[in-house]
Amino acid sequence: MANLGIPANTIAVLQKYHFNFQKKYGQNFLIDTRVLEKIIEESRITKEDCVLEIGPGIGTMTQYLAEHAKEVVAVEIDKALIPILEDTLSAYDNVTVINDDILKVDINQIVQEKNHGKAIKVVANLPYYITTPIIMGLFESHVPLKSITIMVQKEVADRMQVGPGSKDYGALSLAVQYYAKPRIVANVPPNCFMPRPNVGSAVIRLERYEKPPVSVNDEKYMFALIRASFNQRRKTLVNGLLNAGNLNLTKEQILDALEQMELSPTVRGEALTLAQFAALSNLLGRKE
Ligand code: SAM
Repeated sequence: MANLGIPANTIAVLQKYHFNFQKKYGQNFLIDTRVLEKIIEESRITKEDCVLEIGPGIGTMTQYLAEHAKEVVAVEIDKALIPILEDTLSAYDNVTVINDDILKVDINQIVQEKNHGKAIKVVANLPYYITTPIIMGLFESHVPLKSITIMVQKEVADRMQVGPGSKDYGALSLAVQYYAKPRIVANVPPNCFMPRPNVGSAVIRLERYEKPPVSVNDEKYMFALIRASFNQRRKTLVNGLLNAGNLNLTKEQILDALEQMELSPTVRGEALTLAQFAALSNLLGRKE
């Protein structure tokens, strides 16, 4: 099968199958061989690796993955793409396509079946409308994984990478940085896709930590604190936590914890580092 990273080949496949793009599924197919090569290079896939691809589309990146990996599992929601994938991936015997919603499939089970429970790599040009739930789902369900190399909206890639002091800093930055080391490896303009998205894109590599960089007694509690702190960005941390409803904290408890941490009583949540949120969580939450 011809390389679908070449625009003329993608157009030929789309015409052959009278394919209609579904906006609701965030379908923007890659048509740039240099970007595809860069993603493969940065994902550092070898013939030892089992790769999960989310949203293979017509199989453009899947072909590259099949060439470089031992095994590829690709989960695609749009059933109109399944016969196309059968055609474009017919040369490979190491690819399994699953027609399902990535937010509903049991990824842990796939890892068990396809890789005997050993850590996999995730590579994807993600549908942008569900970027955050996909990433958080992968981390929170503790799927054994080595790294995630993904194309996302540029602004979302920035959010994952920044620390306190940036307007992009928020709950996503902290969640990603608790589980993985993020690094933006390429910026990708709209003309590398068909159809062109309205936003700039970036490839980001998230390298999973074996052990989180901070020590927390209760992860869930820390993330509840983080969410409460960023729900009301312009408020002080004390007010954010008091207004959250589900934390059941008194003003005195919070002020006492801030004092122990040598933080101002009027500090805002957006000023705290991950290490400080971990410390705050250990002071206010469940004790071990
Ligand atoms: N990988 C292809 C490429 O790079 O050309 C397509 C990328 S396109 C941005 C996103 C793909 O994800 C589409 O094929 C879309 O149908 C699929 N998709 C959207 N929502 C999905 C979901 N919930 N589960 C699985 N696939 C999904």
